[in-house]
Amino acid sequence: MVRTDTEIPVMEHFYTLQGEGHHAGTPAYFIRLAGCDVGCHWCDVKESWSVSEDQWMPISEVTQIARESGAPIAVITGGEPTMYDLGPLTRSLKAAGLRTHIETSGAHPFTGDFDWVTLSPKKFKAAREEYFSQAHELKVIVYNAHDLTWAVEQAAHCDPQRTKLYLQPEWSRRDRVDQVIQFILKHPQWHLSLQTHKYINIP
Ligand code: SF4
Repeated sequence: MVRTDTEIPVMEHFYTLQGEGHHAGTPAYFIRLAGCDVGCHWCDVKESWSVSEDQWMPISEVTQIARESGAPIAVITGGEPTMYDLGPLTRSLKAAGLRTHIETSGAHPFTGDFDWVTLSPKKFKAAREEYFSQAHELKVIVYNAHDLTWAVEQAAHCDPQRTKLYLQPEWSRRDRVDQVIQFILKHPQWHLSLQTHKYINIP
């Protein structure tokens, strides 16, 4: 799938406020890479699963746009961004003065130079073990009640001194928020993450 290490497939890119997790409310330039082979049935960006020819962009161009936005942080997301070698993109962004963050399911080998790693493992394709020691943040999407049990199993792989733990009700199941709150009150090492960008209708 990779054409050259100077290009990367980008589905969309935009400057906004981060909506969820530890950095919610922080301005960041989002680079959503095209392509995902994880297959979550509740995925709200299914259009990111495939890659088209016209989505390949020079890394130098993506970097220039992100730098000129004035954003302090670039968030690499997807799709599943670890399908690609992220070394060239992260080196380029850091050389331009941006901090680099990633949001990943951890389904493919870890590459790149990141200041912050958000691991959001999915039941549909297990995260590779190497991500649990890298994660600054573990974010588990709660779709059904069993996801809380599964979240605890995933957290057991993390370093409690390093990794902040978040539970995030899936958007279509936000009626589950009361259940998640009750769980967090009993297990205060966890925190609530909400998709605030959806509530305030920003990208
Ligand atoms: Fe969608 Fe992300 Fe799951 Fe891929 S890993 S199917 S992009 S939610």
